[in-house]
Amino acid sequence: KNADDHADLVVIGSGPGGYTAAFRAADLGLNVTLIEKYPDLGGVCLNVGCIPSKALLHSAAVISEARAMAQHGISFGKPKIDVDKLRHFKESVIGKLTGGLAGMAKARKVNVVQGYAKFTSSNSLSIESENGTSSLSFDKAIIAAGSRVTVFPIFETDDPRVIDSTGALALKEIPKTMLIVGGGIIGLEMATVYSELGTEVTIVEFMPQIIPGADKDLVAPLQKRLKSQVKEILTNTKVESIRPLKGGISVKFAAAGNGNAPEAQLFDYVLVATGRRPNGDLIDADKAGVEVDERGFIAVNNQMQTNVAHIFAIGDIVGQPMLAHKATHEAKVAAEVCAGEKSGFEASVIPSVAYTDPEIAWVGLTETQAKEQGVEYETGVFPWAASGRAIGNDRTEGKTKLLFDPKTHRVLGGGIVGTNAGDLIAEVALAIEMGSDASDIGLTIHPHPTLSETVAMAAEAYEGTITDLY
Ligand code: FAD
Repeated sequence: KNADDHADLVVIGSGPGGYTAAFRAADLGLNVTLIEKYPDLGGVCLNVGCIPSKALLHSAAVISEARAMAQHGISFGKPKIDVDKLRHFKESVIGKLTGGLAGMAKARKVNVVQGYAKFTSSNSLSIESENGTSSLSFDKAIIAAGSRVTVFPIFETDDPRVIDSTGALALKEIPKTMLIVGGGIIGLEMATVYSELGTEVTIVEFMPQIIPGADKDLVAPLQKRLKSQVKEILTNTKVESIRPLKGGISVKFAAAGNGNAPEAQLFDYVLVATGRRPNGDLIDADKAGVEVDERGFIAVNNQMQTNVAHIFAIGDIVGQPMLAHKATHEAKVAAEVCAGEKSGFEASVIPSVAYTDPEIAWVGLTETQAKEQGVEYETGVFPWAASGRAIGNDRTEGKTKLLFDPKTHRVLGGGIVGTNAGDLIAEVALAIEMGSDASDIGLTIHPHPTLSETVAMAAEAYEGTITDLY
């Protein structure tokens, strides 16, 4: 469809932020135009982020479980991997979701326009597409243009063996060896996928710890398991230079902090997962008078308004944490405010999850932050070695930790490491939003035997009432 000449509301970008905002605004009766550069809706999350990575992680988890079954007397043998079929499965998952979005946009009469939007004034934009450039005027706009991969100059090369997360998810082949630069969530999720598919993976991380945002005690079980799966995890180490050669990419390392840099090594592939940067610098925001900081972020108030009151911004482009569930909540607020409702973004906490194996999830105050900020806290901890379900699953390395305010016993934060930690953390987020204290959680009857009981038991451990182990 071509752009109409005028829209009540224009939304730039169709990621989790953009499509949610467009749909909510349309449901509230606004005439909405949604502009997306790519032919498919869904943004990074659906096309090259959350969804394809989790589809591949599921396959990786099945391989890992099948191998573990040998310990229980059930052997499946070495997996035979048809990489083309696996890629097709991943693409079919994406297709179902992006197709679903297209249908929902149509049902709501959202005017979807394919093209690249740039502001030309505070009430108009240009849209560049294969068919030329058109213009659109609007009453209100929501900027949901997301973020892109950060590439440090040393990794800039046309060599197809140096890839980013999008390249890794494309799953062209299963390389024999791969260096993953960056031990954050994205890097480690890809390390999990590729090592289970048979690649010999090396991870290099600048900081002293992988997943630097999470508490050390929660990272430890993941670090231990990963060590047995990958060739090496180099912390306190950075890549100094790369050199594409015929037989692979030669990588020189250097020490960061107290690290000892290893000798240069040759890898079939180098995956650079060193972070993402917001797209605020690519939309001519200045022509609309919208302020963008030097990193590309756009500042907003809690109604998601930029410094120009009728232009809103949501999602990765407004700041950390760059997560899909933050984008969708901000999106609803922006759409509702556009439609004249009195909404505000007032989430107390936003959970973070590394979908590694085991998963690590945390929400609210971490212990590291509490110490840094001098916040008084006490912990309730439940080791999964005492969970009947975890023992039955043969995955007892997990741990559930809650942080409480010593005076009120209210939950300040929580962290979980273990299988399905990402699902389990939702309860802790709810507890914090509800202002729950330890007894609220401990007295809530959790189904037995489940891993969710570990949250209740961490609260009971804190209250000193725990007796129902296993
Ligand atoms: P985006 O999803 O970045 O979408 C922005 C859209 O705008 C894009 O489609 C882009 O093409 C379009 N666009 C940009 N500029 C213009 C323009 N000028 N005109 C037209 N269109 C434009 N988050 C999670 O919560 N959970 C996860 O498990 C998770 N896994 C991830 C795994 C990977 C490998 C990656 C890379 C990210 C992951 N994320 C995850 C982060 C998540 O993808 C982002 O937080 C989320 O997509 C942000 O949504 P958004 O709407 O702000 O922007």
